[in-house]
Amino acid sequence: MTVKTDVKTYLNYINGAWIPASSGQVEPSVNPANREDVVGYVQKSGAGDLEQAVAAAKEAQPAWRKLPAPARGEYLYKAANALEKRLDEIAETMTREMGKTFGEAKGETARGIAILRYYAGEGMRKVGDVIPSTASEGLMFTTRVPLGVVGVITPWNFPVAIPIWKMAPALVYGNSVVFKPAQETAVTAAKIVECLDEAGLPSGVVNMVTGPGSVIGQGIIDHPDINGITFTGSNAVGKRVGQGALARGAKYQLEMGGKNPVIVANDADLDLAVEATISGGLRSTGQKCTATSRVIIQSGIYDAFRERLLAKVAQLQIGDGMQGDTWMGPCASESQLKTVLSYIEKGVEEGATLIYGGRRLMDNGLDSGFFVEPTVFEDVTADMAIAQEEIFGPVLALLKVDTLDEAIALANDVQYGLSASIFTRDIGSILSFIGEIEAGLVRVNAESAGVELQAPFGGMKQSSSHSREQGQAAIEFFTSIKTVFIQS
Ligand code: NAD
Repeated sequence: MTVKTDVKTYLNYINGAWIPASSGQVEPSVNPANREDVVGYVQKSGAGDLEQAVAAAKEAQPAWRKLPAPARGEYLYKAANALEKRLDEIAETMTREMGKTFGEAKGETARGIAILRYYAGEGMRKVGDVIPSTASEGLMFTTRVPLGVVGVITPWNFPVAIPIWKMAPALVYGNSVVFKPAQETAVTAAKIVECLDEAGLPSGVVNMVTGPGSVIGQGIIDHPDINGITFTGSNAVGKRVGQGALARGAKYQLEMGGKNPVIVANDADLDLAVEATISGGLRSTGQKCTATSRVIIQSGIYDAFRERLLAKVAQLQIGDGMQGDTWMGPCASESQLKTVLSYIEKGVEEGATLIYGGRRLMDNGLDSGFFVEPTVFEDVTADMAIAQEEIFGPVLALLKVDTLDEAIALANDVQYGLSASIFTRDIGSILSFIGEIEAGLVRVNAESAGVELQAPFGGMKQSSSHSREQGQAAIEFFTSIKTVFIQS
């Protein structure tokens, strides 16, 4: 590999210092909108680098734990300010590294800042309860303690928000962190860590090691000094994390894939349902865990919905996310593009009807990127791969049903249970949906993708290990409860 001398190399962050991987090897982080554009070089670390990071985190954690929580929160306020100063620059890096539009990247970075401030404030909140004891003159209460060293393993699709919604609560509740970002977005990750560094966190409290999942990620799973692992990513890797952590008694939290349905009932607001399906399904090139993937439409509104959906999809501007008029950018990587195209092929093979898109976009200067058309299938049946498996691309599967009961049964007929929406004006239908749908995030007359940082986030079935992230729910993973009894 020839390293471009005008492109910056980003280092690991271990024990408060920026250091190269002991292998001496780096990898390019490439712009998926233009393969010629190298965003930066990142370290290809090995087991020895991880070892140093874990040792630093272990050493730093006792003093960090003893610092009062409001004082820990102060560091997060400082990190938020540092990130805010660099919002545009970091958003641009994100767009160049993984392709989402600059507008979305700015929104995500702003979200990261808000999350840091939210958890800074959590440092002032109560962490226990006084519980009446049956003993006379006894005092019984709960308090919470951090896990110790937490391993943070993250995907590339929300490269600012997800690492921050894991690291901020980990830190404010007194844990130290070993952070392994997705290699595809390791430059963005390094810039977040620069902001934490600028906040003046004590050395070793946060450490970042970049490198292959099979080495650094697996090393985190196996390391006896890592007390908890918080993971977001695919189901295949999530299962390895869960099994590995369980085997050695570490706590774990898994947020994984989705196959999120929207139900469009006969009485839906048609414009709203179409807009929300497009936004929920195709924004970020369909690469959100909460992205709409299956559109289950009642027969009375099917034709009108289909017609309006196709008309609107045809207007979407595809291109480099840094260009102002771009609505949808490229797939985040070549392998992601290949996966999407292979699912499209499979859909056709299995008998679904391709009614829009389906091809890689190569014209108008898009040939050097990983662009794919927004794609719509109909005549999709529940047994097809495009109705069951997570595609993680801009592909919508339309399924027609007669009744709401049928719609809900179909919505539930997958292994996942992350997010689900319904579009209807009928309160009875809304209540049935809320009661029956198997999803951690239930949305009514709103798109399937949409998360508020102060609310619990997570899925059911194979989408999650059933714990919740974000909001005050985060304390459940990042701490253990001690029940204390004092006999006076
Ligand atoms: P991925 O599972 O391939 O990678 C996730 C992380 O795990 C990366 O840092 C990767 O390097 C690491 N990893 C890879 N192999 C590993 C191993 N053997 N041991 C330990 N770590 C390893 O996922 P991805 O392609 O980066 O992200 C897309 C997936 O993430 C999708 O399935 C999506 O639904 C999911 N996701 C879920 C949520 C959620 O909150 N539910 C949010 C965003 C993304």
